[in-house]
Amino acid sequence: MFGRGKVPSKSVDDLLAMRRAGLVVAAALDEVVQACRAGVTTADLDHVATDAITSRGGRPSFPEVPGYRHTLCVSVNEQVVHGIPGPRELLLGDVVSVDCGAVVQGWHGDAAVSVVVGGPDAARTEDLELIEVTRGALWAGIGAMVVGHRIGHIGSAVEDFVTAHAEAGGSRLGIVDGYEGHGIGRSMHMAPGVPNIRTRHRGPVITSGTTLAIEPMLSAGDERTYEMPDGWTAVTVDGSRAAHWEHTVAVTDEGLWVLTATDGGAAELTARGLPFAPLDQD
Ligand code: MG
Ligand code: MG
Repeated sequence: MFGRGKVPSKSVDDLLAMRRAGLVVAAALDEVVQACRAGVTTADLDHVATDAITSRGGRPSFPEVPGYRHTLCVSVNEQVVHGIPGPRELLLGDVVSVDCGAVVQGWHGDAAVSVVVGGPDAARTEDLELIEVTRGALWAGIGAMVVGHRIGHIGSAVEDFVTAHAEAGGSRLGIVDGYEGHGIGRSMHMAPGVPNIRTRHRGPVITSGTTLAIEPMLSAGDERTYEMPDGWTAVTVDGSRAAHWEHTVAVTDEGLWVLTATDGGAAELTARGLPFAPLDQD
């Protein structure tokens, strides 16, 4: 799975170009989250995302995956990832994970969010916990993306975050088996893989100009999934609910730039004492 050596680095111009793709993804997900209401279908969300991307000069990237023709993956409740948009109507209290990718001038952005339909008031407490711990695991992974670290540091940080939550008295959540993040740039999915768990091989070294899609997926129960007969949708074997968060992130010697966050990650990084290093301002 891992090569040794170093992750290829991108130039400042490359990262500025990827930021444009990242902002398109961020805007599309913002609009989709606003549209995530009871009675809306997952196909409706797909249309919102398509319009949001194309109106900003981008192109949905998921249709580049052979056999897939939608802009989003929308995964509801016990579905973890790769849910296909369709006629399913969202219900109050559903946990909805939305994954979105766009390409702008040949550069890719990829991000995912999980929300509850109707907001916190409509949510089960355990679903809010699941979503928030998954989001925290993402930022823990981002914080481990440091020049000179190996890729494996990221998975260790994700796993440690989830373990620490349980040890502090929270629910024991499963890190979904068989899925991981990835390099990203001129293609959506590139080497290296970015595991969400501690691995024996620590993988290549992160360099200044590395870009990665980091994407933890947690379940409220079993880590194992099966694929539905549609050939795409991954569902937890025990029917427990799942959440998925993802960002496309760049790191340089100066610090982190979260390309798919509207603010570049400023608020979350600063709150965690992590170095925020955008390249589009002096
Ligand atoms: Mg994604
Ligand atoms: Mg991804």
